[in-house]
Amino acid sequence: MIQLPTGIQLQEKTLAFLAKTQHLFMGGEWTAPAEGQYFPTLNPANAEVLAEIPLATSPDIDQAVAAARHAFQNHWHPKIKPAKRSQLIHKLADLMQRDLPILMELETLDNGKPLNKAKYDVLGAINHFRYYAGWATKIEGTTIPVDGHKLVYTLREPLGVVGLIIPWNFPLMMAAWKLAPALACGNCCVLKPAEQTPLSALYLCNLIQEAGFPAGVVNVVTGPGVPTGEAISQHMDIDKVSFTGSTVVGRKIMTAAASSNLKKVSLELGGKSPNVIFADADLKAVSQSALWSSFYNTGQECTLGSRLYVERPVYEEFITKLKEQAEQLSIGNGLTNPDLGPVVSQKQLDRVLNYIQVGQNEGAELITGGERCTGALSDGYFLHPTIFGHTNDDLQVVQEEIFGPVVVVSPFDKPEEAISRANHTRYGLAAAVWTQDISKAHRFAQATQAGTVWINGYDLFDPAVPFGGHKESGIGAEMGRSAIDLYTQEKSVWVNLK
Ligand code: NAP
Ligand code: MG
Repeated sequence: MIQLPTGIQLQEKTLAFLAKTQHLFMGGEWTAPAEGQYFPTLNPANAEVLAEIPLATSPDIDQAVAAARHAFQNHWHPKIKPAKRSQLIHKLADLMQRDLPILMELETLDNGKPLNKAKYDVLGAINHFRYYAGWATKIEGTTIPVDGHKLVYTLREPLGVVGLIIPWNFPLMMAAWKLAPALACGNCCVLKPAEQTPLSALYLCNLIQEAGFPAGVVNVVTGPGVPTGEAISQHMDIDKVSFTGSTVVGRKIMTAAASSNLKKVSLELGGKSPNVIFADADLKAVSQSALWSSFYNTGQECTLGSRLYVERPVYEEFITKLKEQAEQLSIGNGLTNPDLGPVVSQKQLDRVLNYIQVGQNEGAELITGGERCTGALSDGYFLHPTIFGHTNDDLQVVQEEIFGPVVVVSPFDKPEEAISRANHTRYGLAAAVWTQDISKAHRFAQATQAGTVWINGYDLFDPAVPFGGHKESGIGAEMGRSAIDLYTQEKSVWVNLK
C-alpha cells in the first residue's frame, strides 16, 4: 500500500501499475530478467519502496539487442515508410496525452518532483514526440555537383540499433529526447532508464505497444550503471550510444565504445552554468528568474545557473532578495505541489550535504540553508535551499557540479571580468546574461563558451532549438535538426554516367 499525504488519492491505473510485477520489455514481450534479480525503486519523499524492478544483466541486453536488430532488419526501416513512422509517433503522443495524470503521478512518486512540474515534463515529452513525428518524412539527402559526367547524391540512413542511457532528473523527458529522434530517423532502440526512476519508462512501453509499433522497435531494460548500462556501452552489436548523465560516466561510455566496436557516441553531460547579472538589468525580473534557475527541480538540472555573478552596485540588494525568496519556498511531498520536492536518493542527499560541508570548510559564506529538513520531512531526502557567497572561483563548490539546491554567488566589477569568470570552468553547457544594453548582451553571448546562451531569460527550451554541451559538457547536440544528424549516417552514391 503506497503511503500518501492526507487527502491525496492516486489514479486507479497508477495503483494497478504499481501493484503488478514489473518485467523487462524486449521484442514486444514482458520478460523476467535472465538471472532473476530485482532491485527496489524508492519514493524519495519517504524512502518507501514503490516497486521491485528487474535487473537486466548481459544475457538480457543480448536478448534486447537481438530483438532490436531483428526488428530493424525485418519490420522497421525501410519496410515501414516514413509517413507511417510519423503516424506511430503521433499515436504514442496521443496516448501519453490520454494517460497524462498517470505519467505525472509515476514521475512524482519515483523522482519526488512536484506534480505540477511533472505535468510540465510529460507535456514537454509529448511535444518532443510530435516535433520529431514531423521530421520522419523530411529526412533528405543532397545532390552534389562534381567534375565530369557523374551524378553524386547522398542518402541519410538510420544507424540501426541504438542504446539510449538516461539520468533520473527528468526521466520521461530524457527518454523522449532520445526515443523521438531515434525512431523518427528509423532506428530501433534499447533504452535504459536510471535505476532510481524506471517507472515512467516501463509504463511508456504499454503505450508503445498500444500505439502499434512493431515488436522490438523499442526495448526497455532496467538496472544500474553496472552491469546494465555497461553491457549496453560495451555491446558489439549496438551501432550507437546516446548518453545523458554525468561527465564521469560519459568518459566511461566513450572508453567502452572505443574498446568494443567503435560505436558512435553522443553525450549530454554535466554543467556549472554561469548566470551573470549586470546592474542595469531589470532586477525584478532577474530575482524571480534567479530563484528558479538556482533551485528548479531541487537543483537537479544540468543547465541550472548554479554560479551567479552579480555586478557589485546591485549585489547586496540582489542577495537580500534571493535569500528572502529562497527561505519562503515551500518544501514537501511532490504530490502536494510544493515549490520543491526532495532530492532523488539518499546517495544524492549525502553528496549534496558533503558539498555543503566542503563549502564551509573552504571558507565560502553560508548565506542561507545548508541543512537537511527535519520534523515531518525527516523520512524523505529533503534539503533547505542553500546559498553560498564567495570571492574565489577556484573553490570546489564553485568548480564542481553539486546537482542539488545549492547556488554560489559572487560580485564582479567589470564586463571583461564577468566573461572570464563565467568561462573559468571545464563545463560549457549553458550561460545567461541579464542587461538592458544589447551590445553588452551580444558581446557576452559571443564570448561565452557554452552550448546555449540566454539573454534576459533562463532555461528556455524548444524541441526545434539545438541543445548540446561545449567543453566537457558533451559531444553532439540534441533537439532540432541537430538530432537528425545524431541518429543517421550519410552515404555518398556515385554514378558514373559515361
Ligand atoms: P550518471 O550517474 O552519470 O548516470 C546516468 C545514466 O548512466 C544512468 O542511467 C546510470 O545508471 C548510467 N550509468 C552509470 N554508470 C554507467 C556505466 N559505467 N556504463 C553505462 N551506464 C552507466 O548521472 P545521474 O546522476 O543519473 O544524472 C545526473 C547527471 O546528468 C548530472 O551530471 C547532470 O548534469 C547530467 N545531465 C545532463 C543533461 C544534459 O542534457 N546535458 C541532462 C540531464 C542530466 P544508474 O544511475 O541507474 O546506475
Ligand atoms: Mg525512485
